[in-house]
Amino acid sequence: MKNKVIVIGAGIGGMTSALLLASKGYDITIIEKNNAAGGRMRRIYHNECVFDAGPSLITMPFILQDFIQSLGFGKQLSDYIDLLPIHPICHYKWSDSSSLDFYTDKKSMHKALQEFSGSNSIQEFEFYLAHAQKVYSATKDVFLFNPFDGFLEFFKTKNLPLLPQLPLLRFTKGFHDHNASYFSDKKLIQLFDRFATYNGSSPYKAPATLMVIPYIEWNYGGWYPKGGIYSIAETYLQLCNELGISIIYDTEVKKIHCNNGRAESVETSSGTLLKADYIISNSDVYHTRTKLLGRNSEKMPDLSSSGFVILLAMKKNPFSMKHHTVLFSDDYQREFHEIFMEEIPPQNMTVYISVSSITDASQAQGEKENWFILVNTPSNSLNMQWNNDEQHFYAEKIFKQIDKYYPEFEAYIDGEPRYISPKHFSEDFNATGGSLYGSSSNSMFSAFLRPKNRDTKIKNLFYCGGSSHPGGGIPLVILSGQFAAKAIMESKNL
Ligand SMILES: Cc1cc2nc3c(=O)[nH]c(=O)nc-3n(C[C@H](O)[C@H](O)[C@H](O)COP(=O)(O)OP(=O)(O)OC[C@H]3O[C@@H](n4cnc5c(N)ncnc54)[C@H](O)[C@@H]3O)c2cc1C
Repeated sequence: MKNKVIVIGAGIGGMTSALLLASKGYDITIIEKNNAAGGRMRRIYHNECVFDAGPSLITMPFILQDFIQSLGFGKQLSDYIDLLPIHPICHYKWSDSSSLDFYTDKKSMHKALQEFSGSNSIQEFEFYLAHAQKVYSATKDVFLFNPFDGFLEFFKTKNLPLLPQLPLLRFTKGFHDHNASYFSDKKLIQLFDRFATYNGSSPYKAPATLMVIPYIEWNYGGWYPKGGIYSIAETYLQLCNELGISIIYDTEVKKIHCNNGRAESVETSSGTLLKADYIISNSDVYHTRTKLLGRNSEKMPDLSSSGFVILLAMKKNPFSMKHHTVLFSDDYQREFHEIFMEEIPPQNMTVYISVSSITDASQAQGEKENWFILVNTPSNSLNMQWNNDEQHFYAEKIFKQIDKYYPEFEAYIDGEPRYISPKHFSEDFNATGGSLYGSSSNSMFSAFLRPKNRDTKIKNLFYCGGSSHPGGGIPLVILSGQFAAKAIMESKNL
């Protein structure tokens, strides 16, 4: 008889586990609380535009490519998705009207740096990346591409070559300080500091090891699947169909029933009990442990930031938007203090705008543009209900900020804005505190504290997704889905 696996949640992590196990002959059912798959990767139609209302940039595309190939269909990612490289990867703007385009080809990037900050900055940039490349090479197999055993990793023979390289990692140095030690131009320091937000962390708290993030973007580029990021979820759904995976929608798992250190069944919102040999939770680990397993003493993790999103359809306008734009605030340190220390939405905020219709005209009708606007906010924001008035009030502040960079931009808004607040993220996906990426990397111990892909007490319960190893963001979540599935494949008679 086939082993029965229940996967809680049809996010990218959960579907990755499900696909890998189904391809090896396991009998898989996914239970999803919402009426669509993809989780935080979702598509919203609004005012004649199509919006990717979650992730807007794909990095490390080889992880997705390798995964599709590993399913053994003889199919490639390119059989399903046309991945387009984004050039420049991002357009950075400051309030004094200066701007810099970030490229992933050396020639264009050197030219842009030369014009922006002089030839010294080219050398600084190259030295920075050379250091980051060494750190990436030294750490990737320990912290990223394999399941993780915490501090035990340092005692494994295969990881001994890492030991002499530890000083290079600058574990004990802050990310901002590391960036400031390489770049003399304050704006370039700010630009590199921003990479801490790729996993919802603060550059003023996270360790220097995060230097691997800009290296990864530089080395592997930034990508967009034609038809929208959601095409990835659609491809996954097509594969689920082909592999006979059943997905039960609009059904929330309310409890995992355990006996003698084994998970036996899940109880759903419709009161049904479903038995399984193995359970994988793609739901947030803290949510799973507190709400589904009833472990009330579970410690809340140090959460990544949340975000406030505005979806705007824009008429033809004079702003010559690029696919990705960042409008930097004047006081980055203050902004992160507000997010992570005061736990209030930043008052003078950095604004990220993604306009996929610049690359892909199918995402907006006629000459419209689909502006996806994201501002980092705290998870668990104190004193905020994110009710209609509060959302509207905060959106007005963001509009004032954007106006400094694109004067009179509000004249081009076509139809009502749509807001997505931290409260929505929390309620829609059971994301603890509305966090976008799970736990943050705000301490040198974050990687060690992040939950592993297997529960410590229930031997046939596994975790995948942004809140478990190796962390948040699409490529990492795909890895975590594979780790959970492989842990099941390697376990015997649980
Ligand atoms: C606004 C935003 C911007 C982002 N930008 C980027 C980006 O540019 N690039 C990038 O790589 N990443 C980005 N991310 C992060 C990325 O989207 C996530 O890391 C990733 O999608 C998480 O996938 P997951 O499988 O871990 O979880 P989720 O997507 O949260 O999926 C979990 C699923 O489980 C379901 N679920 C939860 N609890 C239950 C339950 N009890 N019963 C049944 N179902 C349940 C949820 O409904 C959900 O569908 C962004 C995220 C957001 C929100």
